Amino acid sequence: MTTGRLAYMPKPGSVELREYDLPTPEQGALLLETVAAGVCGSDVHMFADKHPLKSIVLGHEVIGRVVDPSTRPTDSAGAELHPGDLVSVVYFAFCQHCRQCRAGRTHLCENSYNHWIASPDDFPHFTGTFGTHYYVGRFQHVFKVPENVSPLAAVSANCALAQVSAGIDRGKVTAGDTVVIQGAGGLGLWGVAVAKERGARVIVVDAVQRRLDAAKAFGADETVSFEDAPEAADRIARVRELTDGGADVALELTGVGSAVVEGIEMVRPGATYIEIGNVMPGVEITLDIGSMTRRAVTIHPVIRYHQRFLKGGLDFISRNVGKLPFDQLIDATYPLDDVAQALEDSKARKVNRAALTMTS
Ligand SMILES: [Zn+2]
Ligand SMILES: [Zn+2]
Repeated sequence: MTTGRLAYMPKPGSVELREYDLPTPEQGALLLETVAAGVCGSDVHMFADKHPLKSIVLGHEVIGRVVDPSTRPTDSAGAELHPGDLVSVVYFAFCQHCRQCRAGRTHLCENSYNHWIASPDDFPHFTGTFGTHYYVGRFQHVFKVPENVSPLAAVSANCALAQVSAGIDRGKVTAGDTVVIQGAGGLGLWGVAVAKERGARVIVVDAVQRRLDAAKAFGADETVSFEDAPEAADRIARVRELTDGGADVALELTGVGSAVVEGIEMVRPGATYIEIGNVMPGVEITLDIGSMTRRAVTIHPVIRYHQRFLKGGLDFISRNVGKLPFDQLIDATYPLDDVAQALEDSKARKVNRAALTMTS
């Protein structure tokens, strides 16, 4: 095969399938044959014009097969790469020369998306994961998928699992903590599993019962549904009741501004509130800063992650095969030709977490 196809979004709400010659990787880069690509909330936000990126080769979650590792013989953990190996990729780049990279804050790299937002007409074309191939740039990290892990179990290791793992790490979640997770989508389910492994007691808040059922299957100790507690005040009261006055840590994984106002009332004095879901600039909320100060609640926004969280995430999946219901993570798969349908169904919340699967 000398050409491949990709899904390009020229403007929000529209998607085109385009065909391009396969690029010859430069030194340090790697061409993958896409096996599966996850449809993340951010992709849906872009499609729905609720994201700063307005035209892009869609997709950033991927499991792919190495075509020819001669330009990058090892993964980012030093493991040898062979043709056909399954790998997961950190979707953003660490340029190594901007102020943030030079200071070691590589997850805040100022050039993290430059490779992705390039026009598909320019080399290397395959800069998003919704396509038959994906081009891993030389400043992107790549890790082999452990032998016992299936592509669909690992497809959201980047970004969902790694992202939420970074958040839980930032919240210093430890054994005996009570953790509130707002939102039982892809991030939320991983969040439950990771917090449980750290020995926490986990309470999940969501509006959709089937998502709460999935959270239970991933180990949630308690769930609070919008059906039983329709008002924010009811949900806050319920969480406080379940946590002896407030959780030790809460994570916002809904992408809804008002969830933050609600969530910081669900934690105890001195607690940590991890903000991950609201990534769209322009979301404004009114916070009772006096109440926050009197209770000394700390808000930590978390964006992107250190690459160790992807390696750790893949190892986490590997040691939990047979213990956690990974088959429930992706509830719908689509061929590349149906990418628009996958985005529409995700936007309409007909599916919890979709993935594109490639046959070629
Ligand atoms: Zn994502
Ligand atoms: Zn940088």
